[in-house]
Amino acid sequence: MIEHDFDLPHPVRPYPKLIINAAITGMIPAKKDTPHVPVTVQEIIDDAHRCCRAGASIIHIHARDKNGLPTSDKKVYAEIIEGIRQRCPDVIICASASGRRENAFEKRADVLNLEGTAKPDMASLTLGSLNFLKDTSINSPEVIEKLAIKMRENSIVPELEIFDTGMINAAKMLVRKGILQKPFYCNLLLGLPFTASATLFDIACMVNELPGEFHWAAAGIGKFQLNMNIAAIIMGGHVRVGIEDNIYYDNEREILATNEMLIKRIVRIAAEIGREIATSSQARQILGLNSSSSGDVKNDYKWAMQESNLRPAD
Ligand code: MG
Repeated sequence: MIEHDFDLPHPVRPYPKLIINAAITGMIPAKKDTPHVPVTVQEIIDDAHRCCRAGASIIHIHARDKNGLPTSDKKVYAEIIEGIRQRCPDVIICASASGRRENAFEKRADVLNLEGTAKPDMASLTLGSLNFLKDTSINSPEVIEKLAIKMRENSIVPELEIFDTGMINAAKMLVRKGILQKPFYCNLLLGLPFTASATLFDIACMVNELPGEFHWAAAGIGKFQLNMNIAAIIMGGHVRVGIEDNIYYDNEREILATNEMLIKRIVRIAAEIGREIATSSQARQILGLNSSSSGDVKNDYKWAMQESNLRPAD
């Protein structure tokens, strides 16, 4: 008898319900770039709630300080996380431990010290250093290992951020060392000039390199967001979408998106090609995460579907 079916091909193994990870704020977008980026604690909580209702089952958060700049202060994270849990009890919350503005381990690990209802379910773990257009995300092997160990010790699941195939090698080495353990969830981020390109060839190569037990989602940077999201939906992967990676709704860069608009579009496209949307509790089950405290699921994608006059997939 086959205990695990992750190595069976599609369609012998049906596609899982689609997990939508909403990256709603990020490090870079500011109010001067788009009024729709949530930056205050209350804005982030309100926007997370809208995203959950629209179909997101993971909320990827970055905290900002009183001036709207990125902060790693765990007290701000605690306010955001507890506020989101009150409104969306079962949603999976992923906190950033990014090295883009701050690469000292202690600051990046601050959010991993939160406990109780303020503890994030997941935290981002970028598996190598890389260049963005105007800055660099520095992630030394030592800091990556220390963050991964701290996450494991505190039962926080890494959102493995993978920008090229070398970072998949890094993931495999951490698995081999026993530093990374199940459950495995990774995001493939494509479309920066300095990383893997946003093409079907690149995404296929990366997925082919992933161990079978890895749950994966794809994200495109900027105008590649939608293309990579659609590729992931077709290939049986999951999706990361949101203003963190892309502030526009259209390729002409004329329409500034809200996070809710971006998620609703994914829900519509997924419904058209038969991918059902995972609720938060279903996403927890698929990824092997503990069920959170109490809450009834507030993820209500059917509401989003009705608004677009499409019938939700049952
Ligand atoms: Mg992030």
